[in-house]
Amino acid sequence: MFDSLSDKLGGIFDKLKRQGALKESHVNEAMREVRVALLEADVALPVVKDFIASVTKRAVGQEVMKSVSPGQMVVKIVNDHLVEMLGSETVSISLAAAAPVPILMVGLQGSGKTTSAAKIAKRLTEKENKKVMMASLDVYRPAAMEQLKILGEQIGVATLPIIDGQMPVDIAKRAMTAAKLQGFDVVMLDTAGRLHIDQSLMGEVVGVRNAVNPHETLLVVDSLTGQDAVNVAQQFSDQIGITGVVLTRMDGDGRGGAALSMRAVTGQPIKLVGVGEKLEDMEEFHPERVASRILGMGDVVSLVEKAAETIEAEEAEVMIKKMKKGQFDFEDLRSQLRQMKKLGGMSSILGMLPGLGKAQKQMASANINDNLLKRQEAMINSMTPQERSNPKLLNASRKKRIAAGSGVSVQDLNKLIKMQKQMATMMKKMGKGGRGMGMPGQLP
Ligand code: GDP
Repeated sequence: MFDSLSDKLGGIFDKLKRQGALKESHVNEAMREVRVALLEADVALPVVKDFIASVTKRAVGQEVMKSVSPGQMVVKIVNDHLVEMLGSETVSISLAAAAPVPILMVGLQGSGKTTSAAKIAKRLTEKENKKVMMASLDVYRPAAMEQLKILGEQIGVATLPIIDGQMPVDIAKRAMTAAKLQGFDVVMLDTAGRLHIDQSLMGEVVGVRNAVNPHETLLVVDSLTGQDAVNVAQQFSDQIGITGVVLTRMDGDGRGGAALSMRAVTGQPIKLVGVGEKLEDMEEFHPERVASRILGMGDVVSLVEKAAETIEAEEAEVMIKKMKKGQFDFEDLRSQLRQMKKLGGMSSILGMLPGLGKAQKQMASANINDNLLKRQEAMINSMTPQERSNPKLLNASRKKRIAAGSGVSVQDLNKLIKMQKQMATMMKKMGKGGRGMGMPGQLP
């Protein structure tokens, strides 16, 4: 199954050298596995196709980070793209309209619409201190109206009194009028569902929509219905227009692929997810969680996320060892300069070194800018390996040669030598007072 996606991708990329760039043939091969994974997670086929196309474009040519395998790197790219497509940030229900704000709940029967209406009413009441009224427009099933009333009683939220024989549009209007008169902030309108999409249902919902002009129209979808959900979403989105999706039964054992499909088909955010039958079982939508659930491989993703940190930690560990020995030659300086270029400046490097005073950090970072970094690296490149590891060798004639070789003046080179000496002195000092200076677990 899908939990082995990482292994499969690992196999594909075994041929590829570590730290190379991702090649198209390998990426294509990997995408076949990703495709299976997405389909197993119940993502709709057209959505899978689009997804694969754009992620391939993104992956080909990407450099592979140190500390992770190319297979893991691909998983990370897939995951990032997934999160992006799911909607990187949480979008909550908007109440930015004149009170009472009408919220229309739409969806198929059994999707969890009524329960979700009550869950949302509870959230708005408790978390946002809103005065909420609920009204059922389901005139076909008296039991549905009764259900909403009971739920309202459970959570202490008002429901519109039921008047037999009234049509949905009239109930909706009555709810708005009553809410206005009684000073409610929000009106939740729970429309009738059907087992399947049919035109009379759609016509009815359009009528209600036109009558109350809802500020939010939330489509409730059962996350376990997978591929079917796409058709439902498409129809509601095209014919009624929705502003967000509520995904129910995310507590089930589905992989939540419907989330990706919903977002792709409707273009609207998933605003809330239902995670159980109880009325407090509703959460905000977390794209990262759903992404790793779809991929079935949270660990790999966090592993790659850790990779960047690991690189820093590895380098810092090497530095600490050197410090303890009081060493800092031109090789060390060069690798520091390279890292600085990579990691975005002196301050971030120094920030990682324990025991440095603020003034020392400022002094050091003041000496650094991009051009300077390049020139300094060029100077070190012009040295022989012996000179790099033994700075004392640098006499006048060697200095002249190095300066000429890297296109700088001897004064520039002297500044670099001074910097190396200062760093070496700092290292020695820190090495002596070494114990207890942060990162304790990593000291040998
Ligand atoms: P409606 O016909 O769309 O209004 O659906 P209901 O709100 O009546 O829900 C149908 C069933 O699904 C009820 O038994 C609910 O308790 C259950 N349900 C709704 N949302 C969730 C959820 O997020 N998780 C679980 N496990 N059950 C849910």
